[in-house]
Amino acid sequence: MVKETGYYDLLGVKPGATLDEIKRAYRRLALKYHPDKNPSEGERFKQISQAYEVLSDTQKRALYDRGGERAMKEGGMGGRGGFGSPMDIFNMFFGGGVRMPGRPERRGKTVVHPLPVTLEDLYNGTTRKLSLQKNVICSKCNGCGIREGVDSRCPKCHGTGMEFHVHQLGPSMIQQIQTMCSQCQGQGEWVRPLDRCLTCNGRRVVREKKILNVHLDRGMQDGQRITFHEEGDQVPGLEPGDVVIVLDQKEHPVFQRVGDNLVLRKEISLVDALCGFRQVVRTLDNRTLLVSSQRGDVIRPGSVKCVPNEGMPVYRSPAQKGRLIIHFQVRFPEPGWLSPDRLRQLRTFFPPQEEVMATEDMQEVELSDYFSQPGHWWQPHAGEAYHEDDFEESSHPHVQCHTS
Ligand SMILES: [Zn+2]
Ligand SMILES: [Zn+2]
Repeated sequence: MVKETGYYDLLGVKPGATLDEIKRAYRRLALKYHPDKNPSEGERFKQISQAYEVLSDTQKRALYDRGGERAMKEGGMGGRGGFGSPMDIFNMFFGGGVRMPGRPERRGKTVVHPLPVTLEDLYNGTTRKLSLQKNVICSKCNGCGIREGVDSRCPKCHGTGMEFHVHQLGPSMIQQIQTMCSQCQGQGEWVRPLDRCLTCNGRRVVREKKILNVHLDRGMQDGQRITFHEEGDQVPGLEPGDVVIVLDQKEHPVFQRVGDNLVLRKEISLVDALCGFRQVVRTLDNRTLLVSSQRGDVIRPGSVKCVPNEGMPVYRSPAQKGRLIIHFQVRFPEPGWLSPDRLRQLRTFFPPQEEVMATEDMQEVELSDYFSQPGHWWQPHAGEAYHEDDFEESSHPHVQCHTS
């Protein structure tokens, strides 16, 4: 039993959620509320990040489950140490902060930016421009922040960064105390505001707009990362970090992508299901497919068929494509759609119905509609409810493919 569910609610997961579910929930929400995409949702972004920080750590999660948010505060999360910066957690999650072997340890931070893309973008490939603000070393002062020819040594500590105070403790006792220089905060460098570089105002870096051309190759995936080496903020004395772009695919109104396959839900009428049909499907590159059922085939509600080579292009070999999987719903006629007379005619097309004779010992009852009551254990399993996993190759040996 958990004490509070606040952090779970923030991520939209159940208190029993696995680490994997928590990660998936954080990934989705963090991309959605990242300040790049939702500048007004900074507080929400922060809360999601805190919830993730606690729930993704076994010890912190156990503490939270036992004592709620209050225990977190008393346990140190609210005080010293506290929560990590939401941006750092985001960057870390999406692969920022990973050090490349052989590179100097002192590098700037890797920054991750989500890039919203459509399924069409991933199908057809495209180039997207991403405009970023980044710090670059001031070219006027070469990153020292001081006007040319000015002595930057701190006048108070003469560049040592230390101050010495002498205390008279007694008639013959003197104590010398060493403290950090209060003028330069121990930096050893200090100049009058007038002597700062005019271009960067002494900050050593200037803000610059940078346009990155992001090439989307055909078949790239939602969540795929594209790294721009050393395009992160420049800091004097450090190697710049990377910029990582994470693709964030918007849901498509028609197709759902599952691996290299595209899943399409299609509703057909009962007459289509029984007598065969032709249906038009608009592809993601704006072609029109005429999909027809196999002669004599009957489409059952919930059945799955596919068209080979009309799925997503395979990443790095886009001439190859996955399958277009069509999941059929059958629209049945409304009650009373046919007069008793016509029904009799319709019956003649079907195999003879089983005749049951009413006898004395039988009790006649009539069916009514069933509505499940809340709390009742039995729910009809809706035929159309399915999970992505249903379309994994292995679990669906009966997917039939044919080309018409
Ligand atoms: Zn400057
Ligand atoms: Zn000083």
